[in-house]
Amino acid sequence: MPWCKRCGAENFYKDGKNSHGKPLYKCRKCGFRFVWTSDLPRRNFFSNVIAFATELYATVGISLRKIAKYLKKSFDIKISHEGARQWLLASRKQHFIY
Ligand SMILES: [Zn+2]
Repeated sequence: MPWCKRCGAENFYKDGKNSHGKPLYKCRKCGFRFVWTSDLPRRNFFSNVIAFATELYATVGISLRKIAKYLKKSFDIKISHEGARQWLLASRKQHFIY
């Protein structure tokens, strides 16, 4: 469920598309327009994708490079293996647990 990236309200409407064809939302409360790319603050990925990558790494033990490649292939998410490492470190600190 999208929420406003500025004020956190879940009160918004669809307001066209951005140049990449992604739907834009506009907050009814503060007027902020945003693309729903993540349910995490200051990230461009959904937490379930991060959880998936983290689990792959923890249970299958595949390399960060392979995870980065896999994310590109499966979700069209561009991330470096360095970026993936940042996720894993952050998730270990339980930043992603709600
Ligand atoms: Zn808002």
